[in-house]
Amino acid sequence: MKHVIQSIRATFESELHLCKQANDLEALRVRYLGKKGLVQEQLKSLRDVPEAEKPLVGKLINELKKEIEERLDAAISACSHLQLQDKMAKEALDVTLPGRRSNVGSKHPVTQMLDEITDIFVSMGFSVALGPEIESEYYNFDVLNISPDHPARDMQDTFYVAPGMVLRTHTSNSQGRVMENANPPIRIICPGRVFRNETIDASHHVFFHQVEGLYVDENVSMQDLLSTLSEFVRRLFKKDVEVRLRSSYFPFVEPGVELDMSCLLCEGKGCATCKHTGWIEVLGAGMVHPQVLRNVGLDPEKYTGYAWGLGVERMVALRSGIRDIRLFAENDMRFLSQFYAV
Ligand SMILES: [Zn+2]
Repeated sequence: MKHVIQSIRATFESELHLCKQANDLEALRVRYLGKKGLVQEQLKSLRDVPEAEKPLVGKLINELKKEIEERLDAAISACSHLQLQDKMAKEALDVTLPGRRSNVGSKHPVTQMLDEITDIFVSMGFSVALGPEIESEYYNFDVLNISPDHPARDMQDTFYVAPGMVLRTHTSNSQGRVMENANPPIRIICPGRVFRNETIDASHHVFFHQVEGLYVDENVSMQDLLSTLSEFVRRLFKKDVEVRLRSSYFPFVEPGVELDMSCLLCEGKGCATCKHTGWIEVLGAGMVHPQVLRNVGLDPEKYTGYAWGLGVERMVALRSGIRDIRLFAENDMRFLSQFYAV
């Protein structure tokens, strides 16, 4: 009987070594420890063993059973560990590979410039007043002293959307609305999109962006206009440029002026960009026309003011050297990605 037990143990050991996966181990368990397994058979045959030997043989069989159980448990545990390692190896991620950068959007260069201009004037005490893009002729023209026969009213320049209603041709449409409802001092800027019925070319588009400014109070002078706009230009272009005023004409100001700054490239010496004049035209401005003040119920004997208007695309162009206004409206990523804010 002892020999039989030894033989079962030896066979089990050699069969155990041949097991490669969990299924093999389970089959081995059934063959040795199952109800009809080899160990159970030995227990059954115990009844044929002489009475005196029974305790010893029984003990040996139980030892064998326990040993096989332990060996199988250890093997199953090792096998599942190996399977896990194998699975992990197959599904391994190489965490040292560089990641893929996702494309992060950025503000459009015109929006970036609008933000920058707004920040400068807000820091100087101006507040932002937005007006409607679809506007009445009254606020777009009449209140600003633009008479019905003024060339700006020509169908060539203005989009009419309904009788008496236009797409605003400038952001000055906010001026009348604000002045009607506020008492001086009034200090506002009006950033936004404007529309012109133009043939599109490198320097004209059917829509572009402006920032208009207005300051009305007692004793506002041309000197205030010059000092505020000089400060603005120096901060925007981050350069200690010279500025000058040239006489000009706009119906809503009197006198009207153009503000020039010394050329950023040649610093006044003259180059192709400034057409060898040394000066670059930046914006239009002037003292608010007395008739405009009267139109909104302010006494021009008591109050004076200045106003200006600038083209936002033009400011981007002056800083970046881009001369074709159409690029700003085309949404070409190759162009726009140059302006990514870092
Ligand atoms: Zn120049």
